[in-house]
Amino acid sequence: MRIKTGIRAATNAAKNSQYMDYRVGAALFMGSRFMGHGWNWMKKTSPASNSRFKCIHAELHCLSPFIRKGIDLTNAHLFVVRLTPNNLLAIAKPCKYCQEFLKDLGLRAIYYTNRVGDVEVMTI
Ligand SMILES: [Zn+2]
Repeated sequence: MRIKTGIRAATNAAKNSQYMDYRVGAALFMGSRFMGHGWNWMKKTSPASNSRFKCIHAELHCLSPFIRKGIDLTNAHLFVVRLTPNNLLAIAKPCKYCQEFLKDLGLRAIYYTNRVGDVEVMTI
């Protein structure tokens, strides 16, 4: 799995986001095989909802079809990037809620862009 390929796929996913100021994209790979992608979007929940995800984070959007089907993700790699309005890479470290469910899924590694647009890896 080439990191550049994963980051490029996540970057393309981020371009689908409607939030110009905060576009996040995620891409999932199994080995070198692209499995799917996701981006952040607003969920229309009832005001009475106590869902902690008012905004669907890119990681969850990307992984939910696999979670629903019960697909084993223990060998998967996830790539997460954030784009600035000028299309520069910005910090995309998964939030603590995403980290929790990523940990439960047992993903092999999560690659994300940091404050200066470099790629960091998290194994959880
Ligand atoms: Zn998150």
